[in-house]
Amino acid sequence: MHYREAVPARDPVADLRRIAFLLERANEATYRVRAFRSAAATVAALSAMELAERAAAGTLAKLSGVGEVTARCVTESLAGEEPVYLRRLEATEGTDLQGAAAALRAALRGDCHLHSDWSDGGSPIEEMALAAVELGHEYMVLTDHSPKLTVARGLTPARLRRQLDHVAKLNAALPAGFRVLTGIEVDILPDGSLDQEDELLELLDVVVGSVHSNLRDEAPKMTRRMLAAIANPHLDILGHVTGRKVPAAGAGDRGHRAGRTRPPSDFDVPAVLAACVEHGKAVEINSRPDRLDPPKRILRPAVEAGCLFSIDTDAHAPGQLDWLDFGCERAALCGVPPERVVNTWPADELLAWTGSHSG
Ligand SMILES: [Zn+2]
Ligand SMILES: [Zn+2]
Repeated sequence: MHYREAVPARDPVADLRRIAFLLERANEATYRVRAFRSAAATVAALSAMELAERAAAGTLAKLSGVGEVTARCVTESLAGEEPVYLRRLEATEGTDLQGAAAALRAALRGDCHLHSDWSDGGSPIEEMALAAVELGHEYMVLTDHSPKLTVARGLTPARLRRQLDHVAKLNAALPAGFRVLTGIEVDILPDGSLDQEDELLELLDVVVGSVHSNLRDEAPKMTRRMLAAIANPHLDILGHVTGRKVPAAGAGDRGHRAGRTRPPSDFDVPAVLAACVEHGKAVEINSRPDRLDPPKRILRPAVEAGCLFSIDTDAHAPGQLDWLDFGCERAALCGVPPERVVNTWPADELLAWTGSHSG
């Protein structure tokens, strides 16, 4: 074959995946990002020869999963150019973290709250794990939803058992030095009990418990509910503490969503924080730009009270795993000491902690 390459080709699959990652990080809806992820999968399955032939003949967009926009990206990558689409996204990247927030971000070794397409996430566990590896994480805790949250395809006990088998196999295939830890985001039910079998909760590495229903209940009722959950030996991390939803300004213009805000739930803050300290449970600092929960008026007293914390993304797509920056900024602003953030700890220490208060 006679052809000269003036410029070495780029990896079109890596470029497509990078575009998807940046769109997800900008809080674009998962379905809008799917075009790039499915094109990446289609292109990855082709031989280099077929890919080059199709690019030359202009028939890439005839492949299922590849459209005009993604075909153009592939053609540009193969020609050794950064795709225009990617260049535009990279140009709108956020500014770097400063000082204490940057130090905190650098100290994080993993993420304790994220979802896959087994519940309401948009991507397979494998994709989430690869993105976590690329971010330099040592572990990620897979926390899909529990049965009662049917709108989010919460996992029945049988499906959770299947997921545990799946994760065990996946871990054997992932790079050394990285682990998927098992977990759940379990609903804290109105009576304060947890929405999954005790036996399964006992088996899981990490249990995040969150309130998703009756968020407008009066303070005494909500407080009782939260205190019961915190005292439950299975619960390790109290997820998005107030359940509030805020306009997602932190995600930049592309991710800005008007509407869909929700006020924080009402409960006895000092009592809840004291219970977390008493039982050695972590208060989550939820990094989602549409949550940023707890608010600073709760985060500051939580630091004073001596709480442990977990800075999590609650990611529903791979690019959202990079949202830790938002949580770190708020944590630094409120003086959260890095050594009290459980996901700055190595996996074995994290597991020793979750094991220390299980039933
Ligand atoms: Zn949740
Ligand atoms: Zn969640």
